Amino acid sequence: MAKVLIFLESANGKVKKSSLELLSAAQGQDVAGLLIDDGVSSVAQTLKNYPLKKVFVVNNPALKDFNSANYLAATAQVIQKFQPDIILASGSMTAKDLFPRVAAKFDAGFLGDCTQIKIEGTNAKVKRPLYSGKCVGEAEFTDSAKIKIVLMRPNQLPVPAEAASNCEVSEESFTAPAAKIRVKEVVKGSSTKPDLTEAAIIVSGGRGMKGPEHFKLLEDVANEIGATVGASRAVVDAGWVPHTMQVGQTGKTVAPNLYIACGISGAIQHLAGMSSSKVIVAINKDPEAPIFKKATYGIVGDAFEVLPKLKDAFHKLVAH
Ligand code: FAD
Repeated sequence: MAKVLIFLESANGKVKKSSLELLSAAQGQDVAGLLIDDGVSSVAQTLKNYPLKKVFVVNNPALKDFNSANYLAATAQVIQKFQPDIILASGSMTAKDLFPRVAAKFDAGFLGDCTQIKIEGTNAKVKRPLYSGKCVGEAEFTDSAKIKIVLMRPNQLPVPAEAASNCEVSEESFTAPAAKIRVKEVVKGSSTKPDLTEAAIIVSGGRGMKGPEHFKLLEDVANEIGATVGASRAVVDAGWVPHTMQVGQTGKTVAPNLYIACGISGAIQHLAGMSSSKVIVAINKDPEAPIFKKATYGIVGDAFEVLPKLKDAFHKLVAH
């Protein structure tokens, strides 16, 4: 049995779905969670119904906003105490910044952007897309990696069913190291929708939307079904929408249950960020557009005609 430490991220007083998914990968192992932030003690109480033996809570004002030095110190403190074989985290911006530092500090093995994982003994075997999703590689750790760190893409695993586990909450005292970095301000986006990387449904627009004013058509559809709006790089580069909305090789990697691509041609760099979506619907007026080769369902048509009809159809569905 492996000792598995799961890095749990929270928002609005709850552990994020992308973190809870990791519990599925670790079922049957000796599992502990790690919650780092200011004010996360109440969040730990929400874990009592999940398969975890223990949650380490590092709760300190110095951890309110992500600061790589302080988070590294807090994570290292818990690793030294729990001595995990495997550390699992969802591949968020925070984890992508933090865990390479953890790997360097502990001389650990590191595998990022994994879409499948199997724990065998104290090792982890993973699959992960390579070369912008053109092929899938299999990897495992060698014996020289005493600690194995795996970052999983969100939305790849189910959240385990709730069952009373009465996990122990261990509040860790923490003293922040002398500051090398000071976070001056964190500017949060105004959107109340889930971030693209965690959204279950995404409606994305490309250059075929003709201008930023027409993204309202995408938002209308998205609002009906609780989706988050994304974009191709062409429209981000044109300044129509911010870079935070970009999906693809140089944007965000997403894997929602449903990805609706509107007026997006399906360039390899865009596909690299969304091709592991479970269902892909493409709306494009060019029947030869490459996006149709990846799409589960294709609608050959003008987005300006299709989107209002889609909105009405979703509205009727949701109303029933
Ligand atoms: P286009 O390729 O111009 O496609 C527009 C589509 O809209 C066409 O298929 C057209 O038929 C359709 N259309 C037009 N009018 C309508 C209409 N009325 N109704 C329906 N359909 C219509 N791209 C990304 O998206 N993400 C990335 O992260 C990314 N990273 C990159 C990194 C590098 C190093 C490079 C070189 C490129 C990268 N790109 C990325 C750019 C990528 O190569 C494409 O240029 C870009 O994805 C094209 O965006 P698009 O599909 O919106 O535009």
